[in-house]
Amino acid sequence: MALIVHKYGGTSMGSAERIRNVAKRVAKWARAGHQMVVVPSAMSGETNRLLGLAKELAPSRTSDAYHRELDMLAATGEQASSALLAIALQAEGMASVSYAGWQVPIRTDNSYTKARIESIEDTRVRADLDAGRVVIVTGFQGVDAEGNITTLGRGGSDTSAVAVAAALKASECLIYTDVDGVYTTDPRVVPEARRLHTISFEEMLEMASMGSKVLQIRSVEFAGKYKVPLRVLSSFTAWDIDIKEEAKSGTLITFEEDEHMEQAIVSGIAFNRDEAKISVLGVPDTPGIAYQILGAVADANIDVDVIIQNVSKDGKTDFSFTVNRGDYARAIEILKERVIPKLGAHEVTGDAKICKVSIVGIGMRSHVGIASKMFRCLSEEGINIQMISTSEIKTSVVIDEKYMELAVRALHKAFDLEQVPA
Ligand code: ADP
Ligand code: ASP
Ligand code: MG
Repeated sequence: MALIVHKYGGTSMGSAERIRNVAKRVAKWARAGHQMVVVPSAMSGETNRLLGLAKELAPSRTSDAYHRELDMLAATGEQASSALLAIALQAEGMASVSYAGWQVPIRTDNSYTKARIESIEDTRVRADLDAGRVVIVTGFQGVDAEGNITTLGRGGSDTSAVAVAAALKASECLIYTDVDGVYTTDPRVVPEARRLHTISFEEMLEMASMGSKVLQIRSVEFAGKYKVPLRVLSSFTAWDIDIKEEAKSGTLITFEEDEHMEQAIVSGIAFNRDEAKISVLGVPDTPGIAYQILGAVADANIDVDVIIQNVSKDGKTDFSFTVNRGDYARAIEILKERVIPKLGAHEVTGDAKICKVSIVGIGMRSHVGIASKMFRCLSEEGINIQMISTSEIKTSVVIDEKYMELAVRALHKAFDLEQVPA
């Protein structure tokens, strides 16, 4: 008998029929003798619907008081789906109870809309498991030290599930979603994308941080920190498939490099269209410039990603960086008001229609020429590279958003990702 955590995404919970199917699948696992904790997302479209209503009432609020209410609002989506799943399980003859984040409690910091989990109390959940109940814990939410409801950022139910699995020392955390595993790239963009049987933890971390939304980045960080065995698999198989077969389907995230059977140099391609580029032109090329520009942006709690500074001419240089698209307008405003006058820079320009495409693979550590192969492929497609950033196991380029799909498809082909590596 093992303690297992299942997580079901929004599409998997998308209708009464689908919730019934989830209940039947969970009941099958419980009847096979496992202690089951289930973390559901809100039904698909519900989080967007709720946040859309808030936007209708207050289009551009940024205050803490507003963000508090957004979390209060958005958390209801998971509360509803969790109760519905408990009801469906009871209807299947399975004892079940659902808890909101604050009831567990899942404690977080107080950064509304992007809170971080600090601790999870396991007493209540364990008591229910010991009494033979299936426990449903809402995804995406927690409670801060003052008792305010917080949410963990979009896609945050993945993180709830892995954190709950870590707190309970579960044998495995299974992330059920609308694709049957982690692919070489998003199969909705490249139909030839290939499912990976395993992916190393480091590669999964890069893929997630470079924009592949199949797992929220923090869930992968948690899995790494607490060594939670993590698998991504489909919720659309028949609920009554053989449990042993189901348990080894999908993609396993591995922690040992020698477990990594597929020895590709590049394992996957990620892309992100949520970024925007900002350039500060004609800044004096003197010590402290990067700090003055980026410091002002960081003080407003805006994350900066790819950064480049051009060679200087006549003592002046251009400085460019990317930010999340949602922070774009505010970052430009801050620079215009506070930084430009102080530095005597010429102007601030920006482009919100960019995207970032990244190739990821631990094989890049030991092979040279991978980045240049990427650049050649893009040049053959006539795609201009605006910015480049590299790490040990990834190379990212910033390009015009309209070439994103073309770039991803061309790179997928150039690196033979549809083929199983020899
Ligand atoms: P859920 O609601 O179950 O959390 P998400 O929509 O958040 O599901 O994540 C699953 C989606 O991630 C897939 O439908 C797919 O379009 C997308 N995706 C992006 N990159 C990948 C990848 N490399 N492998 C698999 N799916 C990916
Ligand atoms: N419901 C939340 C969202 O749509 C959390 C999640 O689905 O993981 O972002
Ligand atoms: Mg998700």
